[in-house]
Amino acid sequence: MRTWMVAGNWKMNNTIREAIDLAKGVKDGAAGIKGGEVVLAPPYTALQSVYETIKGSQVLLAAQNIYFEDKGAYTGEVSPAMLKDAGCTYVIVGHSERRKYFYETDEGVNAKAKKCLQAGLKPIICVGETEVEREKGVTEFVIGIQVKKALHGIDKLDNIVIAYEPVWAIGTGKNATPMEAEEVHRFIRNVVGDMYGEICKKIMILYGGSVTSENIGELISMEDVDGALVGGASLKIDSFLGIIRNITEKQK
Ligand code: PEP
Repeated sequence: MRTWMVAGNWKMNNTIREAIDLAKGVKDGAAGIKGGEVVLAPPYTALQSVYETIKGSQVLLAAQNIYFEDKGAYTGEVSPAMLKDAGCTYVIVGHSERRKYFYETDEGVNAKAKKCLQAGLKPIICVGETEVEREKGVTEFVIGIQVKKALHGIDKLDNIVIAYEPVWAIGTGKNATPMEAEEVHRFIRNVVGDMYGEICKKIMILYGGSVTSENIGELISMEDVDGALVGGASLKIDSFLGIIRNITEKQK
């Protein structure tokens, strides 16, 4: 039986003070919630303050990125050990904004995912097709390559989360329908099954792309949708808690 997860990706938003307030609101609002995980991914500057705020609660910390070397002359980068030291449990890897603006490749995503695992961090690996790719009917082709390359050379699936985030749905208000999401989630689970066998039933696959408290109910009802990676709606306490509440309602 898979549990659920809701992860808030704050992107390049929130000062330290704002981050602490938001994290405190989420921590208080999510207190007592059972059967799943709530994760917050603040910008690097607020990681440690958010960790101090949520420490001891059921809310966990994620970084939005990682570098795949241990230390050295890599100006502007942050290592796995630094993220562990700041209190991270998870790391978002290969978000489409990183692929688009910072030219991250599938090979780089793979290197980062491996490095997370070596360091005891859990990667949330993002995959997703563009609008043009969907229109051309190559969604499964594109997602298949992204998943296989991201997992290349990784022998165990434990501690890996995959997030299906159609690029056309991120920050656009145009979410995938529950059926569209389910089709791709099932496809991803099958690709993982071809690589690892039966254990694919255990991997958590999140949906991301304009998730709100209004649309999460139907999305989470789909068999292969195990939770959400949330951008915009994670920046307001009420909308983020509304998403968590609606998931837990569906699990009853
Ligand atoms: C994201 O960036 O991961 C995301 C899903 O953003 P939004 O919820 O704003 O579409």
